[in-house]
This record gives sequence, structure tokens and C-alpha cells, in this order.
Amino acid sequence: MMSLDIATLYLVAALVAALLGVMLLYFGRQENIVALTWWGAAYIVGAASVAAWTLASSRLGAGPALMLNAIGMLACGMVWNAARVFHGRPTSWPGIAFGALLWLAALAMLKSDAYAMRITVGAAIVAAYAVLTASELWSERRKSMKRRWPTIVIPVLHGFVLMLPILIGDLLRGDDSAFAESIWVSVFAIELVLYAVGTVFIIFMLVSERTVSAHRVAASMDPLTGVFNRRGFAEATARIIEREANAGRPVTVMILDIDHFKSINDRFGHPAGDQILREFAATLTNTLRMTDLCGRIGGEEFAALLPCSMDEALIAAERVREAFATSGLVVDDTPLETTVSIGVAGGPAGTELEVLLAAADTALYQAKRGGRNRVASASEEPVSLVKERKVIAKAGRPVAAAGVVRRVAPLGGVRA
Ligand code: GH3
Ligand code: MG
Ligand code: MG
Repeated sequence: MMSLDIATLYLVAALVAALLGVMLLYFGRQENIVALTWWGAAYIVGAASVAAWTLASSRLGAGPALMLNAIGMLACGMVWNAARVFHGRPTSWPGIAFGALLWLAALAMLKSDAYAMRITVGAAIVAAYAVLTASELWSERRKSMKRRWPTIVIPVLHGFVLMLPILIGDLLRGDDSAFAESIWVSVFAIELVLYAVGTVFIIFMLVSERTVSAHRVAASMDPLTGVFNRRGFAEATARIIEREANAGRPVTVMILDIDHFKSINDRFGHPAGDQILREFAATLTNTLRMTDLCGRIGGEEFAALLPCSMDEALIAAERVREAFATSGLVVDDTPLETTVSIGVAGGPAGTELEVLLAAADTALYQAKRGGRNRVASASEEPVSLVKERKVIAKAGRPVAAAGVVRRVAPLGGVRA
């Protein structure tokens, strides 16, 4: 049977790793993902070290060839660093260099015939980086266990294969040269290729997951103001409403419409209007609590959902009105009188968002009619559509349309 030349095997492994590295580098630069650039560079450095070591060991002799392995350790450190950078952590130069320095120190300290010891130290360094990389990849993605297993299995397997010589070394103790020729050397070359391919698979899995979630976020945010858009607001509030309903707690919705906004556009131009929208969104989010949700549901119309009672929400709404009226915005050296009208509607646990918004909108209309720059509340609680339907089904008779506000009591909003 034809036997595979081990040097050839290693050169093929190096070639595959180098090609993957070039691919990652190219993709990383294209997509502007710094972690991929690190990863690609690591593969190229790693491939260079394997190729150099393979070619050099027959020519230079063992000593210098072993020094070349430090470059391989550097590549392992770079892979680990890529995983860090991927999760938004800073580059750690000492961390990258530590393995290589440790290896050079071990070479300097160990006797030249301490073959097994050397391989133990070297494999331990590489395996430690593999485990660190695995835990780095593992740590961010606590949620979807099912799709995550390769991020830990592949690096750990790699570490295990690397540690094999230590286990085998125990069995073959005293016969180091036989050990060197052992099957492990060729298994390692094949594993190197599988590892390189496997990690690239992991990388692309993580990158695509992140891209999908970034798109999902973009689709639910308003780019101008940074708050939820209508769709995002509806999705996020649905979750809060359900959570509060399960706990039997009320929720309150407010609609906020900037007063005479058209005249700001007319006098100062559209960009100035956009700036006011941004300022208002900032005022809104800064004035409300962290647990309150804000969204821009129309041109100059915002909405907020507060997991609290109507009374508390009215206080919050008054605070927002006041904050915007006294924000002292200046456009083209002209101080602007910026005011907002707010309609507030609360409901019993489980009232649907559309019902609450409809009631808040009616209250808002009252606030506008009452002279603007004020807060108005729907005096009667809107009735949940689902509950209303249940009542209808039980009674067998039609009930007045749900969500209609019968009486509106404007709060005494003071002109600032
Ligand atoms: P009211 O006090 O009754 O609310 O009067 P208003 O002028 O605020 O209301 P109206 O609905 O008449 O006008 C809203 C204006 O908002 C008209 C539209 O040009 C402007 N608008 C809508 N979207 C944007 C935007 O994204 N940027 C800017 N600058 N203006 C916008
Ligand atoms: Mg308006
Ligand atoms: Mg409007």
C-alpha cells in the first residue's frame, strides 16, 4: 500500500489553512468585521508556521525548527484574540504573545533531549488557547444551546487531539523516537485541516446570526430619533402588555404630538424640524423610566407605554410636557417655543395596544382642542376587545363598540 508522506500532509494542511485565512481576511475587510480580519491573519500566520516548520525540520535540524513553533503559538493567540474582538472586547497583545514567549522560555530551559516534556508544554499551550477560544465563543451566546454546540465541541476536540501525545507519551515512555513516528503526527495533520474548516464554519454561523439580529433591530427602530418605530413599538409593547397582564397589573399608553410642528418646518426648514424631533425623542426617553417604552408612531407623533397606573402615568406625562416646554431649544439664534400635547389612556390588565392607542388618541384630540401644551386623559377605561367579545358571547346581545372614550377630562395644563 502506498503510504502518505507526512511532510506532504502538513504542507496540504498549511495550504488549506492559508486559503481559509485569505478568504476570512477578504470577507472581514469587505464586511468591515475586525474579528474576521484577525482570524484570517491568524490562519495565514499559522499556515506559514506549519509550512516553515515542515520544510525547516529536515534542513535546519531540530533546534531552530522548534523555535519556529513559536510562530504557531502566536497564531493560536491571534485566534483567541479574534474571538475576544468579535465580542467587542479590546485586543490583548500580552495575551497573544504569552504562549509564544512561554514556549521560547521552555525551549531555553529544557534540555535538548527532553522531547516528551517539550511536546507536553507545546501541546498544553495550544490546547489552552483552544479552550480559551471555546469559552470566549461560548460565553456570549447563552441563549440558543442547540445551535451553539459547535462553538465549544470543535475547539475542545482540537485541544484534545493536541493533548493526545501526552496520553500516548505515557504509554510509550522511554521510546521517544518511536513516539515521534507515531500515527499521531499524521492524525494531527488531518485534524488541523478539519479544525481550520470547522472553525470557519463556526465563524460564519456566528456572523450570520449577528447580521440577522442587526437587521431585525434596524427594522424596528426609527433611524432619525433612535426610538422604536411603529412596528418595533407594537412588538415590544405586546410583550410588556402580556407580562403585566399575567401579573394582573395595569398598563397606560400615551400619545404625544408636537404642537404646531408644521410651522417649525415652514419657518426653519425640514432639517431644523428633524433636529426638534431628535430633541423631543431624547427628552421623552430621558424623562420617562427605563421600564417605559417609547416609539415614534408617525411624523411628529410619539407613543409611550408605561407599566403603571393611570395616575402615575399622568404625572409622568406632565413631566414630559414640562421638560419639552422648558427645553430652551434655539434654531438660527431664535429661541423656539416648543410644546407638546399628550393624550393618556389606561386600561385593566390585558387591554390590547390598539384599544389603548385609540383611547389615547381621542384624549389627545381633546388636549389639542383645549388649547395644546397640555395633558388630557381618557376618563373612562377602555374595554379590552377580547373581554368585550366574551361579554357579548355570554349575554348574546351587542354591546357598545369597544375602546370608545365616553368622557374626557383635560388636566389643567399650564402654558410655560
Ligand atoms: P398640531 O399642533 O395640530 O399637531 O399641528 P402640527 O403642525 O404639529 O400638525 P400637522 O399634522 O398639521 O403637521 C405635522 C407636520 O409634521 C407636517 C409634516 O410636514 C411634518 N413632518 C412629518 N414627518 C416629519 C419628519 O420626519 N421631519 C420633519 N422635519 N417634519 C415632518
Ligand atoms: Mg403636531
Ligand atoms: Mg400630528
